[in-house]
Amino acid sequence: MEYGLRVNSGEVARVAAAVLTRARRAVRLMTDMTLLSAVPVRRGHFRMESGYHTDLWMHLETLCRHPALVQPAARALADKLRPYRVDAVCGPLTEGAFVALMVAGELGCDFTYAERFPKPDGGAIFPVQYALPKALRPLVAHRRVAIVNDVVSAGSAVRGAFADLNAHGAQVVAIGCLMVLGDAIDTFAANQRVAVESLERSAFHIWSPADCPLCRSSHPCESVG
Ligand SMILES: [Zn+2]
Repeated sequence: MEYGLRVNSGEVARVAAAVLTRARRAVRLMTDMTLLSAVPVRRGHFRMESGYHTDLWMHLETLCRHPALVQPAARALADKLRPYRVDAVCGPLTEGAFVALMVAGELGCDFTYAERFPKPDGGAIFPVQYALPKALRPLVAHRRVAIVNDVVSAGSAVRGAFADLNAHGAQVVAIGCLMVLGDAIDTFAANQRVAVESLERSAFHIWSPADCPLCRSSHPCESVG
């Protein structure tokens, strides 16, 4: 008498095909779905790293928890950046640097990161600065660099990385990201004559503290980023 599991080869093939389809669907996640639906998003009243206020916050800390799901998006972003023939990719810490590392791997170029520090004279808007570690600074001098981030809205991290890369002789030729929120970064990039490449774009509310309607309605403000 048989106590083992009876296996029908046709059924095994059907199950295997279903599992494979599900796996392929998961790997396509970051290219088929918008980033807004791939990470937790909260509505409320937020003060961002830039000092600007907004009504939506994305928990990007969770973005790279499954790198294999983000890799297709990194590959697609690398394809957009390839024509710029960059020697290095620079990613601002924290989460943006993880995406930048993946993009650098796809491009086969050098990778650097920039760390965040409070500005000594930090005001209400853009109160932080970014700096490359000393050991990585020679890597960017006189070389073509793309700044890569996960999501860019006001552009605090991109602006900070840009300033430090410039200070160390880099030629920043492109800003690449998975998603652009609003159009603040386009104004900055146009002024600096740098291209912006993004996989997605979405409208976004961004207010200076003085113009924020949520502040006017006395809605409690939460610091994020
Ligand atoms: Zn506000």
